Amino acid sequence: MNIFTRIICLVLIISALIFVALRAPIKSQSARTQKLVKAEAEKITGDKFRYSTKSPKGVNVFSVNKPTAKMLTSIDKGFADLIKVAVKNGYYKRTDYSDYTVFIAKPDRNKDSKGNYSPDIAVNAAQYAGSKYDKGGYVYAAGMVVAFNPCAFVIAEHTQNFQRVSDVVRYESEHLVLYHNDRKRFKQTADHSKGGGHPILK
Ligand SMILES: [Zn+2]
Repeated sequence: MNIFTRIICLVLIISALIFVALRAPIKSQSARTQKLVKAEAEKITGDKFRYSTKSPKGVNVFSVNKPTAKMLTSIDKGFADLIKVAVKNGYYKRTDYSDYTVFIAKPDRNKDSKGNYSPDIAVNAAQYAGSKYDKGGYVYAAGMVVAFNPCAFVIAEHTQNFQRVSDVVRYESEHLVLYHNDRKRFKQTADHSKGGGHPILK
């Protein structure tokens, strides 16, 4: 089964920020860049990320509500899977937990069209406009890349089915690790509206 039928995770290249941040040398990715990325995540979600913490493994986490321990360990589990498979494929860039920033947003829906528990965020349809995922200018996504440098994405807060959190983290970070290690394979995954799903790294 194509995972995309269950989880939509997006890379929308609509943001000028992605390119601004890309030009910033890694060493100077300081508070200023982090601030820009946070502003972008707030623009995408319409949320305010008041809480800032690190997961037990060192992932940078910004959230609307204080994250539960279960959310944080589920995020770590998703990265553990990604890092393992990336290294197995010979990809070593951006394979530290601390290379990543995760924004935990307020879900814009808690159930999918079939009534299954599925906390998702509503985002601008962009390249998905007119596709079956288009709900009238927006699409529901389980996760979305916010920036490539630093590596950042947004997911929705979960109170159950934490395996789904690990899965979304695994898929979103797959886009990012491919971006930094294998641009050709990244391009294959960059736009799910033209088909393709996760995981492609095995
Ligand atoms: Zn994806």
